[in-house]
Amino acid sequence: MTQQDQNQLMETAKTIADQFKLPENGYLQKTVEEYVKQSLHGLAHQDPVGIPMLPSFVSSMPTGKEKGTFLALDLGGTNFRVCLVKLLGNSKHTIDQIKEAVNPEIMASDMKTFISHLGDRIVSFLEIYYQSFLEQCAHDPESTPELKAGFTFSFPLHQTAVNRGTLIRWTKGYSINDAVGKDILQALQQELDSRGLRLHLTAVINDTVGTLLTRSYSKPVGCGPTIIGCIFGTGTNGAYSEPLANITKLGAEELAHVAPGKDSMVINTEWGAFDNALKVIPNCKYDKLLDANTPNPGFHMFEKRVSGMFLGELLRIIMVELHDAGLLFTTNEALEALKYPSPAHAKDGKTQNALRVPWSMNTAVPATLDGESNNNNNNNNNNNDDFTHSRKIMYEHLGFEPNQDELAALSVIACAIGKRAAYLSAVPLAGAVLHSRALERFDTIDVGADGSVIEHYPRFQEMIFEALEQTELGSKGVARITMGIAKDGSGVGAALCALEAEGCL
Ligand code: ADP
Ligand code: MG
Repeated sequence: MTQQDQNQLMETAKTIADQFKLPENGYLQKTVEEYVKQSLHGLAHQDPVGIPMLPSFVSSMPTGKEKGTFLALDLGGTNFRVCLVKLLGNSKHTIDQIKEAVNPEIMASDMKTFISHLGDRIVSFLEIYYQSFLEQCAHDPESTPELKAGFTFSFPLHQTAVNRGTLIRWTKGYSINDAVGKDILQALQQELDSRGLRLHLTAVINDTVGTLLTRSYSKPVGCGPTIIGCIFGTGTNGAYSEPLANITKLGAEELAHVAPGKDSMVINTEWGAFDNALKVIPNCKYDKLLDANTPNPGFHMFEKRVSGMFLGELLRIIMVELHDAGLLFTTNEALEALKYPSPAHAKDGKTQNALRVPWSMNTAVPATLDGESNNNNNNNNNNNDDFTHSRKIMYEHLGFEPNQDELAALSVIACAIGKRAAYLSAVPLAGAVLHSRALERFDTIDVGADGSVIEHYPRFQEMIFEALEQTELGSKGVARITMGIAKDGSGVGAALCALEAEGCL
């Protein structure tokens, strides 16, 4: 690579990074106001293109004293987990679990195949962790005590009770078309019954509701009330509690399923669908290229700028453009490697190098580049980028190690993608805090979070807080907000909702 090529690559990278810069001067607060406006619309109307604001029929928050043993199921964007959760009653829990990525064939199969796959995984789990239960079910079902189970199902459901919900649509790459409109919990219950398992699915919740419940159960002593649960993983989403009087779209029949004496309900916002009409959120060239190649173009537009399924893909699309322009991966070694499937994908039988395979780039790639870069302004490594981990992860994804200049240029782009994602992530958080007026009622408030992006993307949480300070909350408001990872949020949340369904929260 000549000096001139290097300069041109870095200049082009900076121009691309600029396209990910958010406007200044009040942009974030204006976007927060638009978020609140769109979310209020969602509380009043069933609008297929607006923010869904889905009632969860969960109306109680755990205190940390809850106890019991539950089976917990968790279907996120990437994995299906089966867990046995023991709530110990002192904000602590134990969990045994198996976790397996759902393969693309299942994600695009039919309802029968999908439900039967979930059944198989549950049996595999019980064979390892609860063989005695399986044996008892087989030999003496009548006297086997029923094991209560909760299901964290992280796709939009139209719920009419805590244990009733029909699938509105798939997100995060799933396309099991005949499941849309069906009650997933009921279908799985029938499957479990037909296998003679004494399991009772008592509740279905979204992972974001699970995160809220889990953090409320497990937060450290001294934290204020947990008012938001949020997810930054494959997708992004949030949940918070809303007075029933404001959820005007609830009909009389649905209100009859609210636990007696409760005057609020947790709302699963599905904020990934914020601003599908693109009134305020940015839409650069690469956002458009990405959206065009999704199964749901025009939907979940906020999520497509924020979450793990998309940040790696944005970087991949840009790498393809730079490569096609002759600016990136031009060495003989790179050109040779690009002819073959890369190590991480060879075993999937993919015939192309991952550079050309849509959705093949994990967000761990931009996260690693960002973490090792000088552009990341908290990283004081004396202007001496050390891309050791980036080299390794690039090798895994592409089958060769890009050179230092390429890594430096890509890290400029990765930082821009990551910063925009974290800053946009602050918008619905600020919106929920301001709309709920929680800071007027409590000295401090708490937010529970979950997902690989917020856990592992370097400084993601710090960048969210930086952005929150730029909203009406200001630094004084933000200083009264704590945020913590709700460990095992989906599993513990499923256990807590099974308790809620029994009226025990
Ligand atoms: P799920 O959404 O299924 O619950 P996760 O919370 O683990 O699963 O999120 C998976 C997403 O996180 C994937 O889209 C992946 O690209 C992204 N991811 C995985 N590892 C990292 C990492 N180290 N840094 C940032 N993002 C990551
Ligand atoms: Mg998850």
